[in-house]
Amino acid sequence: MSEPPRRTMTPIPATAPRRRFLGQAGALLAAFTLTPHLARAQGTTFVAVRAWPAEDYTRITLEANQPLHFEYLFVPDPDRLVIDLPGMSIDEVLKSLPDKIAADDPNIHGVRIGQFRPDVVRVVIDLKRQAEPQIFTLDPVAQYRHRLVIDVYPKTPRDPIEALLAELDGKRAATSPTAASSGPSATPDLTASAPPRTKGVPAKARASGGAPYVIVIDPGHGGEDPGAIGRFGTREKDVTLAIARRLKRIIDAQPNLRCALTRDGDYFVPLGERVRRARRAQADLFVSIHADAVASSGPRGSSVYVLSNRGASSTTARWLANKENQADLIGGINLGQQNEHVAKTLLDLSLTATMQDSAQLGRHVLTALGQVNTLHKRDIEYANFAVLRNPDVPAILVETAFISNPEEERRLKDPKYQEKLAQAILKGLQRHLETTAPTPRLLIAAREGRG
Ligand SMILES: [Zn+2]
Repeated sequence: MSEPPRRTMTPIPATAPRRRFLGQAGALLAAFTLTPHLARAQGTTFVAVRAWPAEDYTRITLEANQPLHFEYLFVPDPDRLVIDLPGMSIDEVLKSLPDKIAADDPNIHGVRIGQFRPDVVRVVIDLKRQAEPQIFTLDPVAQYRHRLVIDVYPKTPRDPIEALLAELDGKRAATSPTAASSGPSATPDLTASAPPRTKGVPAKARASGGAPYVIVIDPGHGGEDPGAIGRFGTREKDVTLAIARRLKRIIDAQPNLRCALTRDGDYFVPLGERVRRARRAQADLFVSIHADAVASSGPRGSSVYVLSNRGASSTTARWLANKENQADLIGGINLGQQNEHVAKTLLDLSLTATMQDSAQLGRHVLTALGQVNTLHKRDIEYANFAVLRNPDVPAILVETAFISNPEEERRLKDPKYQEKLAQAILKGLQRHLETTAPTPRLLIAAREGRG
């Protein structure tokens, strides 16, 4: 595709690196320049603007009543993104955007807005660090109208999993005799093949050869995707994060366990990325935390789901999996970046042993949950949840309680009850590890000399 003209852009020095258009941006730009009358679509107004700051990436969402057209440019020194929105005028909704950028946003200094031309709004995003932006549009879905999404990823990504790996690297450096001595292997490295130390290590850790089990906890939903909303306004994404953080605290307090969260903030992580993070962290177990919702307020109780390729164990399970799998649509993913991964994951699903492990893990967790809540069903259930499609990591999805049941909604918000749920899930995880005693993946990786 030849470079379309950029008449609306301020000239930038010829030597300046200019970002390529990513994802759908190029296509949309072309549509705009080829059919400029589209730019004058009448009556397009902003409906809402939102900002979701996170260490992972910062998302800015502009929502309008009709599709937004845009072109954008990267301008260095100081680094900023310039986004022009033809056919738009500044209004009160858009004016509220700069105030929504938090001072401690890791990726963005701030946002400036101007009426660049009578028919073009210019949004300038001042960047805090080197960025890899993705800009794309989303069609209306669920409660949202037309969205323009600006995702500002740091050029050097750092997510909760990286933090865990860095922490484990540090621990190994601190405890490994080879790391303490001088020599070529002094750098902390999970791939180092130093013999596991057993002296002074608690019995449980000894059983796992000194390496901890890595538990990846996945707080469902986040950011643009609130998940289910209770009658009193409790949002599933907040409850899942609260329970997941409690779980992390008590898991990390165990000598033989380490926990990583797939998200640790109010932002959206695509389902495929959650799966990828579990793999990168060498997860031994994966637990996705959710809260159920149905139209009526009666149903209650905890449920545990495991993956099934063949079909769901009930129509409710199938319905629920479809609902949870919609997270990517609501949370908003750049399809241009995701398809490849999804196709690949589906291909690798040869899962029998993992599915048996998942089922056993699920039963242990369900039993433990039965001590702190009613069980919705007596046994685990099966359905095709995208977030559980991980070829070799035992994985379960816990529907902690029904957020659509007013009594359970109240309990889900209660910190004491959140702690009880977390304790029960931990108990189930521990039972599973005690009965199966798998070799920690970190240890396997170290023995095989790969990270
Ligand atoms: Zn959910």
